Amino acid sequence: MTSTPALVAPSAGAAFEARTVEHRDLRDDDVLIDIKFAGICHSDIHQVREEWGSAIFPMVPGHEIAGVVSAVGDGVTRHRVGDRVGVGCMVDSCGECEFCKNGEEQFCAKGAVMTYNGRGYDGEETKGGYAQQVVVSERFAVKIPDGIDLDVAAPLLCAGVTVWSPLKRWGAGPGRKVAVIGFGGLGHMAVKLAAALGAEVSVLSRTDAKKDDGAALGATAYHATSEPGVLRELKGSFDLIINTVSADLPMQTYISLLRPLGVIANVGLPTSNYEFAPGAVVGGSRVVAGSNIGGIPATQEMLDFCAEHGIGATIETISADQVDEAYERVVAGDVRYRFVIDTSTIAVSA
Ligand code: NAP
Ligand code: ZN
Repeated sequence: MTSTPALVAPSAGAAFEARTVEHRDLRDDDVLIDIKFAGICHSDIHQVREEWGSAIFPMVPGHEIAGVVSAVGDGVTRHRVGDRVGVGCMVDSCGECEFCKNGEEQFCAKGAVMTYNGRGYDGEETKGGYAQQVVVSERFAVKIPDGIDLDVAAPLLCAGVTVWSPLKRWGAGPGRKVAVIGFGGLGHMAVKLAAALGAEVSVLSRTDAKKDDGAALGATAYHATSEPGVLRELKGSFDLIINTVSADLPMQTYISLLRPLGVIANVGLPTSNYEFAPGAVVGGSRVVAGSNIGGIPATQEMLDFCAEHGIGATIETISADQVDEAYERVVAGDVRYRFVIDTSTIAVSA
């Protein structure tokens, strides 16, 4: 076992503490990554606060990891020391089932091992990216192309691929009208990626506060959904809606914004249920879909696309002692558009 400084949540909802945590010695197929930056995903907050049910503590969250390979196991062939790599939401899967073979490791029949708040197949608790180092199987480290800086690359590992998957699956591209609900971490990446794919993109945000950013990031329209009458006027407008909202949402109203045959792909994971009448989807043969992160090949494809199109996340870099405050700001919707922790600032007092 070797150790690394990390930010640890000792119990549900407690403030973070800088502590030393241990990670396993390198197996043959493992890489050791010196983490440079870790994004703060709203899923980290849901889990640290046990909003999705009981979680494993102490917890080191973080599944938007960007860093550099600093050591490799004897059997590693994909990466070398010095390579720039990223790790997202998964660190292992069986590799043999139908889904793993298709590069959809998130649906692994044995259960994919999550980067944190999970257990490896050896029973060991996993620890995530709010740390200076992590050990993962080489299969779960993807290459970060040279064209993307590591700080703006980190959020691509979850926020990026999570919206990339439904945009690709449901055909975002030229001639298609795409709306993004919730202009936060996932939402701003959905706007950038959908626009780069050639779709006509609208932002549906609660207020006008981020209107200028909508156009700057590639949207052609921006609607403040809390303004009276705005949603009514948008009825039947969109081929695809990506819903990134982390809280309760009037689903039936948003379904009505779809054109016939349109799809609303939900990636937000609030604790409340969505409600809609059968007629809301039967009329117009509309689809209410969900989408869960993305597999390793899709993650690499998305990173390569981002490098080709000069896309990174729009970030605010913070130090380790600002993470508690950053959580409050994310929940308040006060983030433009992803907080990224500079992990070199994690200082464990003696
Ligand atoms: P985020 O940065 O907090 O963005 C969520 C956005 O939702 C906010 O910026 C806000 O946009 C909107 N919003 C927040 N509270 C709202 C409310 N009460 N009513 C209406 N809109 C509200 O969060 P994120 O990191 O993008 O994550 C979004 C959700 O996706 C979370 O639930 C997260 O757990 C989930 N997620 C899912 C996957 C997956 O695989 N499916 C992966 C990662 C994350 P406006 O201010 O513009 O209205
Ligand atoms: Zn995430």
